[in-house]
Amino acid sequence: MGEKKTKIVKTIKIDADLCNGCRACEVICSAFHATPKYSSNNPARSRIRVIRDPLRDVYVPVYAGEYTASECMGRDKYVIDGKEYDECAFCRASCPSRDLFKEPDSGLPLKCDMCEDDPPQEEPLCVQWCITDALTYEEREEEVEEEVEQEEMEIGLEALADKFGLDKIMDTVARMSMKD
Ligand code: SF4
Ligand code: SF4
Repeated sequence: MGEKKTKIVKTIKIDADLCNGCRACEVICSAFHATPKYSSNNPARSRIRVIRDPLRDVYVPVYAGEYTASECMGRDKYVIDGKEYDECAFCRASCPSRDLFKEPDSGLPLKCDMCEDDPPQEEPLCVQWCITDALTYEEREEEVEEEVEQEEMEIGLEALADKFGLDKIMDTVARMSMKD
Protein backbone atom coordinates (compact mmCIF):
# COMPACT_ATOMS: atom_id res chain seq x y z
CA MET A 1 0.00 0.00 0.00
CA GLY A 2 1.27 3.49 -0.87
CA GLU A 3 1.59 6.36 1.56
CA LYS A 4 -1.29 8.78 2.01
CA LYS A 5 -0.67 12.40 1.23
CA THR A 6 -2.82 15.49 1.49
CA LYS A 7 -3.99 17.36 -1.57
CA ILE A 8 -5.74 20.74 -1.60
CA VAL A 9 -8.88 20.68 -3.74
CA LYS A 10 -9.96 24.12 -4.95
CA THR A 11 -13.56 24.70 -5.93
CA ILE A 12 -15.79 27.59 -6.81
CA LYS A 13 -19.33 27.18 -5.60
CA ILE A 14 -21.90 28.66 -7.97
CA ASP A 15 -25.24 29.87 -6.68
CA ALA A 16 -27.06 30.58 -9.94
CA ASP A 17 -29.98 32.17 -8.06
CA LEU A 18 -27.69 35.00 -6.89
CA CYS A 19 -26.18 35.74 -10.32
CA ASN A 20 -27.56 38.91 -11.95
CA GLY A 21 -25.82 38.44 -15.28
CA CYS A 22 -23.49 41.47 -14.91
CA ARG A 23 -20.60 39.56 -16.56
CA ALA A 24 -17.94 41.17 -14.35
CA CYS A 25 -16.48 37.68 -13.93
CA GLU A 26 -16.00 37.37 -17.72
CA VAL A 27 -14.38 40.80 -17.91
CA ILE A 28 -11.83 40.25 -15.13
CA CYS A 29 -11.00 36.69 -16.23
CA SER A 30 -10.22 37.76 -19.79
CA ALA A 31 -8.23 40.79 -18.56
CA PHE A 32 -6.19 38.67 -16.15
CA HIS A 33 -5.29 36.24 -18.94
CA ALA A 34 -4.49 38.93 -21.52
CA THR A 35 -0.88 39.38 -22.62
CA PRO A 36 0.40 41.58 -21.11
CA LYS A 37 -1.83 41.07 -18.07
CA TYR A 38 -4.82 43.46 -17.83
CA SER A 39 -3.95 45.02 -21.22
CA SER A 40 -7.36 44.19 -22.74
CA ASN A 41 -10.61 42.45 -21.97
CA ASN A 42 -12.76 40.38 -24.27
CA PRO A 43 -15.31 37.97 -22.78
CA ALA A 44 -14.69 35.62 -25.73
CA ARG A 45 -11.32 34.89 -24.10
CA SER A 46 -12.80 34.33 -20.63
CA ARG A 47 -12.64 30.98 -18.89
CA ILE A 48 -16.00 31.56 -17.26
CA ARG A 49 -19.10 32.29 -19.36
CA VAL A 50 -22.54 33.25 -18.15
CA ILE A 51 -25.36 31.49 -20.00
CA ARG A 52 -28.04 34.16 -20.08
CA ASP A 53 -31.76 34.41 -20.50
CA PRO A 54 -32.49 38.00 -19.39
CA LEU A 55 -36.22 37.84 -20.11
CA ARG A 56 -36.61 35.10 -17.52
CA ASP A 57 -33.89 36.46 -15.23
CA VAL A 58 -31.93 33.21 -15.52
CA TYR A 59 -28.14 33.42 -15.52
CA VAL A 60 -25.89 30.41 -15.08
CA PRO A 61 -22.12 30.86 -14.79
CA VAL A 62 -20.13 27.95 -16.32
CA TYR A 63 -16.37 27.40 -15.96
CA ALA A 64 -14.12 26.08 -18.67
CA GLY A 65 -12.99 22.55 -17.90
CA GLU A 66 -10.78 20.12 -19.80
CA TYR A 67 -10.58 19.91 -23.57
CA THR A 68 -12.32 16.87 -25.00
CA ALA A 69 -12.20 15.55 -28.55
CA SER A 70 -15.28 13.40 -27.95
CA GLU A 71 -18.24 15.36 -29.44
CA CYS A 72 -20.64 13.39 -27.23
CA MET A 73 -23.13 11.06 -28.91
CA GLY A 74 -25.66 11.56 -26.12
CA ARG A 75 -26.31 15.14 -25.08
CA ASP A 76 -28.09 16.86 -22.23
CA LYS A 77 -31.23 18.88 -22.62
CA TYR A 78 -32.06 21.29 -19.80
CA VAL A 79 -35.41 22.90 -19.10
CA ILE A 80 -35.38 25.60 -16.41
CA ASP A 81 -38.55 27.50 -15.52
CA GLY A 82 -40.14 26.20 -18.70
CA LYS A 83 -37.36 27.36 -21.03
CA GLU A 84 -35.47 24.76 -23.01
CA TYR A 85 -31.75 25.53 -23.30
CA ASP A 86 -29.39 24.64 -26.13
CA GLU A 87 -27.88 21.20 -26.03
CA CYS A 88 -24.44 21.47 -24.46
CA ALA A 89 -25.32 24.87 -22.89
CA PHE A 90 -24.02 24.06 -19.42
CA CYS A 91 -21.17 21.76 -20.38
CA ARG A 92 -17.74 22.79 -19.10
CA ALA A 93 -15.68 21.18 -21.85
CA SER A 94 -13.91 22.86 -24.71
CA CYS A 95 -14.85 20.60 -27.63
CA PRO A 96 -14.99 20.57 -31.45
CA SER A 97 -18.83 20.73 -31.44
CA ARG A 98 -18.99 24.42 -30.48
CA ASP A 99 -17.01 27.64 -30.24
CA LEU A 100 -17.24 28.11 -26.47
CA PHE A 101 -14.03 28.09 -24.43
CA LYS A 102 -11.71 28.54 -27.37
CA GLU A 103 -9.13 31.26 -27.81
CA PRO A 104 -10.74 33.31 -30.65
CA ASP A 105 -7.56 33.80 -32.73
CA SER A 106 -5.82 30.47 -32.40
CA GLY A 107 -8.78 28.19 -31.61
CA LEU A 108 -6.75 26.72 -28.72
CA PRO A 109 -8.84 25.41 -25.81
CA LEU A 110 -9.26 27.61 -22.73
CA LYS A 111 -9.39 26.14 -19.25
CA CYS A 112 -9.91 27.75 -15.84
CA ASP A 113 -6.59 27.71 -13.97
CA MET A 114 -7.99 29.17 -10.75
CA CYS A 115 -6.03 32.36 -11.52
CA GLU A 116 -2.63 30.82 -10.93
CA ASP A 117 -0.32 33.69 -10.13
CA ASP A 118 2.98 34.51 -8.49
CA PRO A 119 2.52 35.63 -5.74
CA PRO A 120 -0.79 33.71 -5.47
CA GLN A 121 -4.08 35.61 -5.55
CA GLU A 122 -5.94 35.60 -2.27
CA GLU A 123 -9.01 34.26 -4.10
CA PRO A 124 -9.75 33.64 -7.79
CA LEU A 125 -10.45 36.97 -9.47
CA CYS A 126 -13.94 36.12 -10.70
CA VAL A 127 -14.89 35.41 -7.07
CA GLN A 128 -13.38 38.73 -5.94
CA TRP A 129 -15.27 40.63 -8.64
CA CYS A 130 -18.64 38.97 -8.13
CA ILE A 131 -20.43 41.47 -5.90
CA THR A 132 -23.58 39.37 -5.51
CA ASP A 133 -21.68 36.41 -3.99
CA ALA A 134 -22.96 34.07 -6.69
CA LEU A 135 -19.40 32.72 -6.73
CA THR A 136 -17.66 31.60 -3.56
CA TYR A 137 -14.25 30.05 -3.24
CA GLU A 138 -13.74 26.90 -1.19
CA GLU A 139 -10.69 24.85 -0.38
CA ARG A 140 -10.70 21.43 1.21
CA GLU A 141 -8.07 18.88 2.00
CA GLU A 142 -8.36 15.38 0.60
CA GLU A 143 -6.24 12.37 1.38
CA VAL A 144 -4.92 10.66 -1.73
CA GLU A 145 -2.80 7.59 -2.25
CA GLU A 146 0.74 8.57 -3.12
CA GLU A 147 1.62 7.45 -6.62
CA VAL A 148 3.94 4.47 -6.84
CA GLU A 149 7.37 5.85 -7.49
CA GLN A 150 9.21 4.70 -10.59
CA GLU A 151 11.99 3.38 -8.37
CA GLU A 152 9.57 1.19 -6.43
CA MET A 153 8.23 -0.28 -9.67
CA GLU A 154 11.72 -1.12 -10.81
CA ILE A 155 12.47 -2.83 -7.52
CA GLY A 156 9.20 -4.75 -7.95
CA LEU A 157 10.23 -5.94 -11.40
CA GLU A 158 13.66 -6.96 -10.16
CA ALA A 159 12.07 -8.98 -7.38
CA LEU A 160 9.81 -10.74 -9.92
CA ALA A 161 12.75 -11.44 -12.20
CA ASP A 162 14.72 -12.89 -9.27
CA LYS A 163 11.84 -15.13 -8.35
CA PHE A 164 10.67 -16.37 -11.76
CA GLY A 165 13.58 -15.61 -14.05
CA LEU A 166 13.59 -12.84 -16.61
CA ASP A 167 12.95 -15.18 -19.57
CA LYS A 168 9.73 -16.45 -18.09
CA ILE A 169 8.44 -12.92 -17.44
CA MET A 170 9.30 -11.81 -21.00
CA ASP A 171 7.56 -14.89 -22.34
CA THR A 172 4.40 -14.19 -20.34
CA VAL A 173 4.33 -10.55 -21.46
CA ALA A 174 4.73 -11.64 -25.11
CA ARG A 175 1.88 -14.14 -24.81
CA MET A 176 -0.38 -11.58 -23.12
CA SER A 177 0.17 -9.03 -25.87
CA MET A 178 -0.56 -11.59 -28.60
CA LYS A 179 -4.05 -12.16 -27.20
CA ASP A 180 -5.25 -8.72 -28.44
S1 SF4 B 1 -19.83 38.49 -11.62
FE1 SF4 B 1 -21.20 37.22 -10.37
S2 SF4 B 1 -23.23 38.14 -10.66
FE2 SF4 B 1 -21.91 38.95 -12.28
S3 SF4 B 1 -22.28 37.54 -14.02
FE3 SF4 B 1 -20.49 36.78 -12.91
S4 SF4 B 1 -21.32 35.24 -11.48
FE4 SF4 B 1 -23.01 36.51 -12.18
S1 SF4 C 1 -10.90 31.28 -11.38
FE1 SF4 C 1 -9.67 32.73 -12.58
S2 SF4 C 1 -9.23 31.55 -14.44
FE2 SF4 C 1 -10.94 30.55 -13.47
S3 SF4 C 1 -12.74 31.48 -14.40
FE3 SF4 C 1 -12.32 32.61 -12.50
S4 SF4 C 1 -11.09 34.36 -13.18
FE4 SF4 C 1 -11.05 32.84 -14.83
